[in-house]
Amino acid sequence: MTYISLQTKNPENYSRNLKIAHLYGDLMNTYGDNGNILMLKYMAEKLGASATFEIVSLEDSFDDARYDLVFWGGGQDFEQEVISESLSALTEPLGRYIEADKPLLAICGGYQMLGKYYIDASGKKIVCTGILGHHTENPGNDRIIGDVEIYNADFDETYYGFENHGGRTYLAGDENALGTVKYGGGNNGTTGEEGLIYKNTFGSYFHGPLLSRNPRIAYRLVTIALKQKYGSALELPKFDSLFANLEDQVQITDLKRKSK
Ligand code: GLN
Repeated sequence: MTYISLQTKNPENYSRNLKIAHLYGDLMNTYGDNGNILMLKYMAEKLGASATFEIVSLEDSFDDARYDLVFWGGGQDFEQEVISESLSALTEPLGRYIEADKPLLAICGGYQMLGKYYIDASGKKIVCTGILGHHTENPGNDRIIGDVEIYNADFDETYYGFENHGGRTYLAGDENALGTVKYGGGNNGTTGEEGLIYKNTFGSYFHGPLLSRNPRIAYRLVTIALKQKYGSALELPKFDSLFANLEDQVQITDLKRKSK
């Protein structure tokens, strides 16, 4: 399934192209997660590539060789249960994609579905892809809701987001957190971790959407995808030269909103 309105206009003006799979894009999109798609398009075009988006959903097969980047949004428990029955077809090619170091971003419900299982708010066990080792348990009566700030020491970057989830996610030994919680609940409210990084797969509970508030993550995903497709020697502009004022602008927007 292709989104007509989202594709880059006049793709012939770009020398490169990124094919982006939006997993279950017709079913999983909470709190504006699809805004991440717009940000991936914006970043690809800024870096000289047209972007082509395709939804891969219940009836589709996922061809790992076809895609350069994958996005998976959040969902309610209901949608997570609906898609869980179709996951067996996805597991093998998506696992291959992840192990090949190709870039993927998954938010909230999508992040949960990459792991082993999710015990939902009613206590029902939803079997997930099992590609990654984390698991999620929902106590059923207590959601983690609010603003979050985290810090990633490896990248020396701070990320801001908004979280709203019942599930508590626990990472496996081979997974790192996306960041250390400075403010907010994060993966489970207790371990001080938020999100996950495994190879070039990124998971997070940040809605809102994550990439427009944290453009350095969008830059990271798109540059990884371009270098994998066109070779590691590909020269791309540095984030700071492209977006000298972008983070200031994001900050100003936030401040304006707060002062209303
Ligand atoms: N249903 C899951 C939970 O409550 C995921 C929610 C979401 O994606 N926003 O934890």
